[in-house]
Amino acid sequence: MAAGSAWQRPDLVPLEERLRFLQLFRVAVVVVTIAIGVRGGDQVPVPAIMGLGAAALGGGLIARLCVRSAAAGRWLFGIVLLGDGLLLAALVHLLGGLASPGRYLVVLHVLVVTLIASYRTGLKLAIWHALLVLVLHEAAEIGWLRAAAVADPTAALFTYIALVWTVALLTASASAVNEREILRRRYDLDAFARMSGALELATGLHDVARTVVDHVCENFGASRGGIVSVRDDDPVMIAGRGLARVSSAGQVDGLVAAAAEGRRTLLVTRLDAGNAWLAGHMPDAQHVMLVPLAVEGTVEDVLVIEHGREAHGGLKRSTMTTIERFAAHGALALRNAKLHGELVAMARTDGLTGVANRVAFDQALNGELDRLERTGGSLALVLCDLDHFKHVNDEFGHQVGDAVLSEAAQTLRGACRTYDVVARYGGEEFAVIMPLTTSDVAADVAERLRQAVAEITDPVDVTMSLGLAVATEPVAARDLIAAADRALYRAKRDGRNRLELARTVSSPAPPGSGVQQAVASGTPAQAPDE
Ligand code: GH3
Ligand code: MG
Ligand code: MG
Repeated sequence: MAAGSAWQRPDLVPLEERLRFLQLFRVAVVVVTIAIGVRGGDQVPVPAIMGLGAAALGGGLIARLCVRSAAAGRWLFGIVLLGDGLLLAALVHLLGGLASPGRYLVVLHVLVVTLIASYRTGLKLAIWHALLVLVLHEAAEIGWLRAAAVADPTAALFTYIALVWTVALLTASASAVNEREILRRRYDLDAFARMSGALELATGLHDVARTVVDHVCENFGASRGGIVSVRDDDPVMIAGRGLARVSSAGQVDGLVAAAAEGRRTLLVTRLDAGNAWLAGHMPDAQHVMLVPLAVEGTVEDVLVIEHGREAHGGLKRSTMTTIERFAAHGALALRNAKLHGELVAMARTDGLTGVANRVAFDQALNGELDRLERTGGSLALVLCDLDHFKHVNDEFGHQVGDAVLSEAAQTLRGACRTYDVVARYGGEEFAVIMPLTTSDVAADVAERLRQAVAEITDPVDVTMSLGLAVATEPVAARDLIAAADRALYRAKRDGRNRLELARTVSSPAPPGSGVQQAVASGTPAQAPDE
């Protein structure tokens, strides 16, 4: 456990509860003292005990009413303990000094406070009690107070102090162990909550992976760390902290594979030549821990962290268990991020052909038109329709028709540039968005698309007609699509297996703005729709 600097040490028992408990203790002390006093007969001034008790309980009540802010509360608690020390010293004196049973109430007080506050407070209180009894002893020595009814007051004094301190030290050491464990757990719980909060805000697989690595490294004092995806044959470092920049993919790493396949945490003192891939990311790594990130029995990622030279004698078992808990939570978050990513991709992909679907097409076109409006340039849109596709279905069956659609889509994708968007627009219609493309270049690319499809022979020969529209000024999506569609209609009408270019693309101009027109060149003269 490595406490962050911003971390505040929390109270084990809330202040209000401590004050309430001490008040109960006070009531018990007063009752017991009165009982002892009554049994003690005339030598014990019971009214004085009652008066002191009433004052102490009143003080305790005021303290509970006064407790407001944590800072003031701390002072208040200290003052209350000093007051209780005075009360107990006075009661011990009234009951007859160190020989009276009252001395055990002091011991009990130290014990109770050590348990409900902290071992430090308990030890401080033991000093305070010892000091008070010394004062009582000295006051009796010089005759200010009645001497205790014991044969050797000095011996009784030291026996008493030894008793208080023995109890204080024993309780404090036992309580310190408990306190450390409770604080460690509370710290881990807080750190866990912080990671969960950050994971809720993380978007996408890499962001989630980075969040897990960062939180594990920060909370457990790891110097370097990363998450290795073992989904494919080659491991890929999907997120890292403090790692060397090396090629992400690499050959199978023995350690990573062993952690993933064995589904167990591995600890290695030092990375060696057998783990060249991991050692490349973490040169000279020492005390490396590999935790498989398993969800429902499947490991797709492995968390790797390095504790470096600080991890003298290795990691404690309890720390490793806590890291494994963090990792298990991270594994779930990673799995959810992957599923979400896959779901988003599925929602944007056409199931039959694997290219973008209509939803993704609409988003892409609107996005590109927005960009055109902001930064200018030109945007080309090609609508493509397979020729006589109904015959393909009728003659060869729908399965062959599907295969042709798939082949045509892949051909279009292969013949386009990487930043062009190929989408299935409808049944046997495709659309290609070409950002920042002039009409000349777009016409060349579209012609290339036509030829590529015309070359398809498997499963059957097929051709395609295309309509191209290019916007050079802001235009509405529906107008650009309509222009490309009109050009496509002409291509069909004029014989199919050809490309036609729209002459103009225009939207009704919004009031006060310039005319919105996009120009395409090379359009045949007699377009009936323009
Ligand atoms: P044209 O050259 O004028 O475009 O003629 P066409 O036969 O291609 O056009 P039409 O609109 O008459 O027919 C399109 C056909 O595409 C009809 C429809 O059954 C088929 N189709 C649409 N979607 C799919 C699909 O997913 N799979 C298969 N196999 N066929 C489809
Ligand atoms: Mg059609
Ligand atoms: Mg068709």
